[in-house]
Amino acid sequence: MSLQETAPDVIQDLLQPIENGSFRFACHPGVSCFTECCRDLRLLLTPYDILRMKTRLGLATDAFIEKYGEVHLDEKRCLPMIHLRMEENERKTCPFVSSEGCAIYEDRPSACRIYPVARASRMHPLHGTLVESYFLLKETHCRGFEEAKEWSVEKWLLDQGLEPYHELNNLWMELITDKGLQKKGRLSEKQQQMFYMVCYDSERFRKFVLSTRFLTLFEIDAAEKQAAIMDDTGLLRLGMKWLSFSLLNKPYLKLRRTDT
Ligand code: SF4
Ligand code: SF4
Repeated sequence: MSLQETAPDVIQDLLQPIENGSFRFACHPGVSCFTECCRDLRLLLTPYDILRMKTRLGLATDAFIEKYGEVHLDEKRCLPMIHLRMEENERKTCPFVSSEGCAIYEDRPSACRIYPVARASRMHPLHGTLVESYFLLKETHCRGFEEAKEWSVEKWLLDQGLEPYHELNNLWMELITDKGLQKKGRLSEKQQQMFYMVCYDSERFRKFVLSTRFLTLFEIDAAEKQAAIMDDTGLLRLGMKWLSFSLLNKPYLKLRRTDT
């Protein structure tokens, strides 16, 4: 699924190839447009974005979503999706923008981190491996492109701390862009609730995992079990496997054999 197929028209028109694999860019309080881009955004939050932000703010996930999220169902499959809610002021500013910049900078969402690079990812239909491509999103108001600092895509991704985001976001993207899920049509209400709990309610999902036969029903090795119990990202990884197993019959989890 290419970005040029799925991104809104307004974004597609701004996408440019990255000539010779490098680009010039810098964003800092000295640019005349500083924080201009932190307003009036339709910013999709991934499950890992939400984990990072709610932890940063010391909130439970449901409290974070109630305060900062806008939940809606995507039209084709009824998948619950969450956007960051902008403030209800004239400029529709991001709730985290301040005169000094982003107040949650170290835990800002993936979309903010990667800008001005745009990333398209898809699974190779034959090899099942992830194929990635990168573009520049050149918005006319952004003066960062006039700065001298030169980047390769690899250096940019490293500098912006995107590695853990890509790892967790890839698992999610693999699930939500799966052709089988698209063919399946709309999720039932029960499936929507399951998707929501795994992706956006780590506290409730952990309770579910610990209070049901979940951990004995499947063959899960000790390290993975421990990570899911102790750590939100471990739990999210396990949850993605469970969703792929349950919604798409993917063999990412194996039912434990019971001797009769
Ligand atoms: S518009 Fe560009 S340069 Fe200006 S603050 Fe946003 S990212 Fe930085
Ligand atoms: S989260 Fe931070 S970087 Fe992203 S739009 Fe809001 S203030 Fe800007």
